[in-house]
Amino acid sequence: MTKLVVPLFVTAAAPAITAMPLAVAAGADMVELRCDLAEASVIRQVLAARRNVKLGDGHLGVILTIRSAMEGGGFVGSDDTLAGLYQQAMLGPDAPELVDVELQAWRRSSAIRNILTNATGPRGSPGSQLIVSNHDWTGCPPDLDAVLTAMHEVDTAVIFKLVWKAHTILDGVRALALYARHASGDARQFLCLAMGEPGVISRLLAAKFAAPFNFATAESQGGSAPGQPSLAQLKNLYRWTSQRKSTMVFGVVGWPVGHSISPAIHNAGFAAIDFDGVYVPLAVEPEYDKFCDALDAIRQCPGLNPGGVSVTIPHKHHALRYVLGRGGTVDDMARHIGVINTILFAPDGKLTGLNTDYAGALNALTGAMGVDRPGLRGKRVAVLGAGGAARAIVAGLAAWGVDVTIFNRGIDKATALAADFNGRTGMVCAVPMERLREHVYDIYINCTPVGMSPNTASSPVPVDMPWNSQTVVFDTVYNPHETQMLQLARSREAVVVHGVEMLIQQALLQFTGFTGQPAPESAMRQAALAALRSG
Ligand code: NAP
Repeated sequence: MTKLVVPLFVTAAAPAITAMPLAVAAGADMVELRCDLAEASVIRQVLAARRNVKLGDGHLGVILTIRSAMEGGGFVGSDDTLAGLYQQAMLGPDAPELVDVELQAWRRSSAIRNILTNATGPRGSPGSQLIVSNHDWTGCPPDLDAVLTAMHEVDTAVIFKLVWKAHTILDGVRALALYARHASGDARQFLCLAMGEPGVISRLLAAKFAAPFNFATAESQGGSAPGQPSLAQLKNLYRWTSQRKSTMVFGVVGWPVGHSISPAIHNAGFAAIDFDGVYVPLAVEPEYDKFCDALDAIRQCPGLNPGGVSVTIPHKHHALRYVLGRGGTVDDMARHIGVINTILFAPDGKLTGLNTDYAGALNALTGAMGVDRPGLRGKRVAVLGAGGAARAIVAGLAAWGVDVTIFNRGIDKATALAADFNGRTGMVCAVPMERLREHVYDIYINCTPVGMSPNTASSPVPVDMPWNSQTVVFDTVYNPHETQMLQLARSREAVVVHGVEMLIQQALLQFTGFTGQPAPESAMRQAALAALRSG
């Protein structure tokens, strides 16, 4: 089991002694005592106190780390002083379970080597054991092979820990790819982390790769490196205790992507049907070549077992181009819409592109109206906006024989969109936004961001809309849950369709594509609503 370790920066004894049981209460399996700035007497007090912190059948285990400023830590003394600190900390019955030494310090200082060699034993032996670490604060080491070779020469180490700063998601994938390389050559344990938001997958998936431990914050304390997730995120959101070697990996590709509630929706779905999968954010910079590099690396990463991705802004066009460029399959409707939001990866490498946005929107609409798709035929629909969301919705409506009028502040964009879909069963035309009140429609759909948080007081329609209980009003904006436009519709007793319903419906279709199983709708809806409520 991959242990969750909360780092604690120790300067004085009392705060560290208070923080240890709090970390355990928050779900930590161990703590790391970062003692770069602590005196020997403080370290020994904290080590002694940790024996009073109960965990399972025993007491809290600790990793002792004293990192020198030369290796990016805070300790500024000489290597001999550092060796002396280690020696004092590791005397007697309170010695830490694990002690972490930086590879460079180990190589540089015979005093450090002697003390740690004498004070640590092989795996499974009583007393302390050694972690040898290599941190690179500039990026993935260019001489990775040399670093790995040097680490493996530390005979007494039971764990190798390799950490580097991530510049892009590729650095996170590189970290995960290294597990396969290590596993083939050595029985000792291995941990590889890419620091910072771009490398976060190396932290979120560490349990799948059977890393010996992983760092997490206990919420109340800050982390020891950028990008560290919290214990609660790992356990409650990223299925920490369910991850194993066979676990399939899915994710949402976007830029930015940190705000996405898709991980909450899909992971809740996987948990509800006990599907062996985990879903993570995949932040990929906006350019097409970055998208291709990231997708290629993810698909080729040994041991990752990726099953597919959701795709969001700004990559939906890129996704279609990528799938077609690599010989994949995309249905006619998605091709005509010109964007996809889902890519499925088959085990033989074949790609399938889907657009579940249009189908999700149609499902949300027909569900609220209590009709099937043919039941939409002949309805008159006003679509507000002519961007990506409008395009998917107009395509879906036109395919089912609906007459659509597109209102947009920029008429040229609306005219171009209408021309693309007019006559594909339904009639589609474009009209300037100012003329919205000239006719009455059966269904109004907002596909602009007007009314979206934080501008919740605005509405894309005037208050004197001719709405009544026969009207259907659908706002694709899902934050806030009930926009000004929907509040107006409710006051007129119109049928109201929330944006979150489209989000949920498109996710249900993706889920079935990912898993081959019916989606657990209630669990996924609850997760979506809870994620939106928590902001
Ligand atoms: P987009 O491609 O940028 O298109 C935005 C459209 O809104 C454009 O037609 C734009 O008009 C219009 N617009 C923007 N600001 C406006 C304003 N202040 N007043 C009037 N019109 C304005 O964006 P998108 O991808 O279509 O997304 C639009 C909205 O749909 C998002 O904000 C999101 O809330 C919602 N959405 C929801 C879901 C869901 O699952 N519920 C999925 C996707 C999108 P111009 O052409 O004149 O610039």
